[in-house]
Amino acid sequence: MSDTLFSKIIRREIPADIVFEDDEVLAFRDINPQAPTHVLFIPKRAIATLDDATDNDQALLGRLMLAAARWAREQGLAERGYRVVMNCRDDGGQSVHHIHLHLLAGRRMTWPPG
Ligand code: AMP
Repeated sequence: MSDTLFSKIIRREIPADIVFEDDEVLAFRDINPQAPTHVLFIPKRAIATLDDATDNDQALLGRLMLAAARWAREQGLAERGYRVVMNCRDDGGQSVHHIHLHLLAGRRMTWPPG
């Protein structure tokens, strides 16, 4: 797959406001936040879209989700709640082809999404 700007963030080639990192997951603040807290959780091993994930990625996807939930809890965001979103390809609104979980918090979310 082609290199994305998220790979460059992982390699520290472009700056990001990193809030969490472990051996498999990196999380940083979205440059164009859609809520008072808007953080992207990405796997260090790039997968282009959710549709490209396979059974081999099961643990990694779970880890991404749990990392977001744990971080939200640690930040005191869990009690009021938050939203996690993963956009897939064009109709899903995906612009960076390296899967990422959006964590949005700090305001009441609306449904359905626009
Ligand atoms: P998506 O549209 O679901 O692919 O989400 C991509 C997200 O990446 C958008 O919310 C962008 O604002 C965000 N983004 C793009 N470039 C950067 C960057 N350099 N640092 C942080 N977030 C970024």
